[in-house]
Amino acid sequence: MEKSASILIVEDEVAIRVGLVDVLIYHGYQVDYAEEGLSGLEKALTGKYDLILLDVMLPNIDGFNICTKIRKQDKAQPIIMLTAKSADEDIINGLTLGADDYVSKPFSVAQLILRVKAVLRRSVPETTEQTFIQLNGNRRIDLQNLCIQIGKENIPFTKREIEVLEYLQRHNQRPVTREELLSSVWGYSEEMEIETRTVDIHIARIRRKIEKDSKNPQFLITVRGAGYRLICDSVS
Ligand code: CA
Repeated sequence: MEKSASILIVEDEVAIRVGLVDVLIYHGYQVDYAEEGLSGLEKALTGKYDLILLDVMLPNIDGFNICTKIRKQDKAQPIIMLTAKSADEDIINGLTLGADDYVSKPFSVAQLILRVKAVLRRSVPETTEQTFIQLNGNRRIDLQNLCIQIGKENIPFTKREIEVLEYLQRHNQRPVTREELLSSVWGYSEEMEIETRTVDIHIARIRRKIEKDSKNPQFLITVRGAGYRLICDSVS
């Protein structure tokens, strides 16, 4: 199944695009591509892809805007942003707008393939028995509809954010490390030793949605030196 997964590449730099197409076809994927932003956006919204590799700097409409528009339509579409090396702002922006992960350019082909495989492995839909995580009296996470209800307000989550919350809730008797989240939620094997801030940035983004004050979290807390814990009232 993984072998026939379809991947859309949106990348304007010819050498990188051609290289990506080659290597992904070589690894057995169905590959489609766009050379600039607008056609990339159109393909992303009208086609059905298992994964989208999305460059940031693109002619006509940039990767951030494309990511936002994809997320509005589909909260579960797996997206990996291709960011410039050490462009911290790009990385944070991309993940804040709902990308699943990022790969910094220049990247090694081996690294990229590992990340692609991991994201595709995790994108198989899972059924959950639970429906709600009640954080406190007026904060309820709706796992099926991917949102949190705070009083009358409804704030949407991406699929990946919900997966992080669910995982923390299922293991909330103890702190969960960043490495465990990477391997259990993102599907990276422990031996991959991937250096990524994906987890931290996702945690920060979740806090902004669920906490009253994301700098002093009371639900998704950091246990110093041990990881993250989700404190909640009940699950139903
Ligand atoms: Ca570019």
